[in-house]
Amino acid sequence: MARDPVCGMEVDEVTAPAETEYKGKTYYFCSKDCKEHFEEEVGRFLEEQPKGYSH
Ligand SMILES: [Zn+2]
Repeated sequence: MARDPVCGMEVDEVTAPAETEYKGKTYYFCSKDCKEHFEEEVGRFLEEQPKGYSH
C-alpha cells in the first residue's frame, strides 16, 4: 500500500485512480482531485521542515 500525500489515505498502487511521478518517486492518490492538489502545491505536501526554516 502507498499513502496519498494529500489526504493521508492508504491507496493500493494497483488500483489507484491517480498517480504522478515527482523527482523520481511515484506518488499515488485516492482521487484525481488529490493529484491535482499535489501538483499545484507539491512543495507543501512534501515539505518536512517547518515553514521558515530554510534560507
Ligand atoms: Zn486523497
